[in-house]
Amino acid sequence: MPQRSAPERRAGRYAPSPSGDLHLGNLRTALLAWLFARSERRPFGMRIEDLDERSRPGAADRQLADLAALGIDWDGEPLVQSEHREVYAAVIDRLSAHGRTFECFCSRKDILAAPTAPHAPPGAYPGTCRDLTDAERARRRAEADRPPAIRLRSDATEFTVHDRLHGDYTGTVDDFVLARFDGTPAYNLVSVIDDNAQRVGQVVRGDDLLPSTPRQAYLATLLHLPVPEYAHVPLVLGPTGQRLAKRDGAVTLEQLAAKGTDAGAVLNALAVSLGLAAPGERVDTQALLRRFDPDTLPTEPWTAPAALTGAG
Ligand code: GLU
Repeated sequence: MPQRSAPERRAGRYAPSPSGDLHLGNLRTALLAWLFARSERRPFGMRIEDLDERSRPGAADRQLADLAALGIDWDGEPLVQSEHREVYAAVIDRLSAHGRTFECFCSRKDILAAPTAPHAPPGAYPGTCRDLTDAERARRRAEADRPPAIRLRSDATEFTVHDRLHGDYTGTVDDFVLARFDGTPAYNLVSVIDDNAQRVGQVVRGDDLLPSTPRQAYLATLLHLPVPEYAHVPLVLGPTGQRLAKRDGAVTLEQLAAKGTDAGAVLNALAVSLGLAAPGERVDTQALLRRFDPDTLPTEPWTAPAALTGAG
């Protein structure tokens, strides 16, 4: 009898925005996403989130080269979001055909100035354009100096997700933007569509994105897509205790190499920060994979050592 093979596990992924070179914080998150996925024998997908105006030509190739230099590999070709605009537009059209979207003419200023609904969570869209009549909408369209954004007509105010590091997390779901006024599909939409397209079952990313996660899980549910498991990992901090940034000394592989710190030494520093190697020990990602235990991960942010970055 032919052997039936086990169904392939759903993938992990890393989804950088190609706005410049990856810094130590990005590299550490990528390493963690890879360790989580590979330690569970999941495929690992790569995705280039190049839809916004901060994308720089050539940055994606450099990012991929840096990940490879650390020993992070991935399966298949990276998914490049700018090549899939028609997919995102089709999903918005489908939601619209089901009455799940509305046109929004508000500027950021309008939203901040609008009175919030009595039980709306802080920062939620106040609902200004949600229930415009056809006549009001036509008037707003005629008066507006730019096309409307498209928002989701949400029927939830919050949604709970489960996170491997944070446990159950409940956060705001409002009428969030699906497409900006210039037509660019929004991160919360494309992330859900592409996680499904890449058969993602595990999302490991920086914990600055935890507050966006209930919106994404809610949208996935609305689209009848599976909700992945989540692990939001702590960010890397710079010398001032703020999230690490380019100004914090040598933080990219190229800058570190120029100071004599090669990719192996950077991998060691990241591994030390995760409790997976001793200082100065030469390790490769396969060795780290054997040592990796998600249950013993440090849950506090890591401050990049000044000895590494040269920041003082
Ligand atoms: N592109 C996002 C970033 O670089 C990550 C998005 C995600 O992992 O969902 O911050």
